[in-house]
Amino acid sequence: MKKLFILSIFALACGAVFAQQPQQRQQQPQQDVRNDKIGVGMTPTMSEYWAPKPPVVTPGNQATAGAPSDAIVLFDGTEKSMTDNWVTVNMRTNEAAPAKWIVKDGAMTVNKDVRNGGGNIQTKENFGSFQLHIEWCVPEMGPEFTSQIRGNSGVYLQNMYEVQVLDCYNNDTYVNGMTGSIYKQTPPLANAMRKPGEWNVFDIIYEAPVFNENGTYKVRPYVTVIQNGVLLQNHTEILGTTEYIGFPQVKAHGDGPILLQNHGDPSPSISFRNIWIRKL
Ligand code: MG
Repeated sequence: MKKLFILSIFALACGAVFAQQPQQRQQQPQQDVRNDKIGVGMTPTMSEYWAPKPPVVTPGNQATAGAPSDAIVLFDGTEKSMTDNWVTVNMRTNEAAPAKWIVKDGAMTVNKDVRNGGGNIQTKENFGSFQLHIEWCVPEMGPEFTSQIRGNSGVYLQNMYEVQVLDCYNNDTYVNGMTGSIYKQTPPLANAMRKPGEWNVFDIIYEAPVFNENGTYKVRPYVTVIQNGVLLQNHTEILGTTEYIGFPQVKAHGDGPILLQNHGDPSPSISFRNIWIRKL
């Protein structure tokens, strides 16, 4: 009698298992439901979104240093594109005049003669977050030019934060003043310089800050810098203005221009070419 009871229980159990099989197959898709602590109750499609679609962008031809189809070209090698897009701002009067750097052979070279229209130049247009492509070349020069007095320039993001440009090919200087440093803040991850006389390529991805009403950062600025295909800054947090003397300052600002620095030292001037920007 006891044996019969056990067999009956076994048969019922087997019947229940077999009876459940079709039902389990029907419920197969639900086996993807996450049951760990992070995704309780979620299915794969819940974390997939399909719109808005990213715009189709035709990549530029690297061999000819072309710009992508949706970029704003800030300098294409012609005098016209320099004067159309860049100005020199008088630091005393704050008046803007057309940029007067020297355009030759598809490049524009820093004009250090401040009394005759030289100096820093900046874009006419203001930008928020962006992707910037810019190429630069330090000319060959004698060994008397060293450290920061050797091809010094800079790319100022929103006219506030300097990504350093310098000849760092066999040229020793402080690491947070090297090429690709966030000047006086963060050294680059590598030294990817080409020799003087050769062209270097910067690709800079910048995320503009957001400010609280009291002028402090609500969201800090971040920057990624790639030189010649080598990562120098990896989504680096910018602490504030890049001061020559003192610590970074937090100063509320809105969109701003890209500024290229005339360092004003006696070393031969550096050149820029093929500058384009994509708003983010
Ligand atoms: Mg500089």
